[in-house]
Amino acid sequence: MIKIGLMGGTFDPIHFGHLVIAEEVRIRYGLEKVVFIPCGTPAHKKDYAVTPSEHRYLMTVLATVSNPSFETSRMEIDRTGPSFAIDTIREFRTRYDGEAEIVFITGADAIMEILTWHKKDALVRMCRFVAATRPGYPIEGLSKLPAEYLKQIDVVEVPGIEISSTDIRARVRDDLPIRYLTPPETEAYILKHALYRETPNP
Ligand code: ATP
Ligand code: MG
Repeated sequence: MIKIGLMGGTFDPIHFGHLVIAEEVRIRYGLEKVVFIPCGTPAHKKDYAVTPSEHRYLMTVLATVSNPSFETSRMEIDRTGPSFAIDTIREFRTRYDGEAEIVFITGADAIMEILTWHKKDALVRMCRFVAATRPGYPIEGLSKLPAEYLKQIDVVEVPGIEISSTDIRARVRDDLPIRYLTPPETEAYILKHALYRETPNP
């Protein structure tokens, strides 16, 4: 049975923190590939205006194209209505007709939000979840999760990359460099389309 990693996110924009955790988990779990899935309308209201999904999708494609084991999926951006992880995992399961084991990759902060996710009890039983360590989000916080959730979650220590999309948006707005924070193709896309010039400070 092959193993497929799913990596959901807003990717507004994608950066090296995302790419490092995906690659680390891919190698450690022997994943056939990791599919990056930019969300459509975020299920949880954000405190800033999320960039149109087509931009986020294309930036994710650009950032992942050089890795033959990475793919970007339009599944959530093409779905009408809010994005729910449970629907995405179900759709991937159907696509592989039970022939693939799904591993859902998140960072330490996102996994803590699992308690707020749509149909959380069913979701948590659907596949293994990998929580990658993230600077600034102590993994000890995980112990607050119920035991039946914890048994579905593996913590994986990854090289700490202290980058967030929020910081990148703020840096662009403040005319600070984002070189070396995101792949050059993604940086070029941001400049070309003048993204994040007017992002209010969250
Ligand atoms: P924002 O600041 O807009 O929330 P973000 O940098 O947190 O952006 P998301 O798109 O929200 O990026 O994150 C997608 C997934 O990647 C989440 O599971 C998140 O925990 C994880 N992630 C993001 N950045 C890092 C990082 N630097 N290290 C580890 N995990 C990360
Ligand atoms: Mg985030």
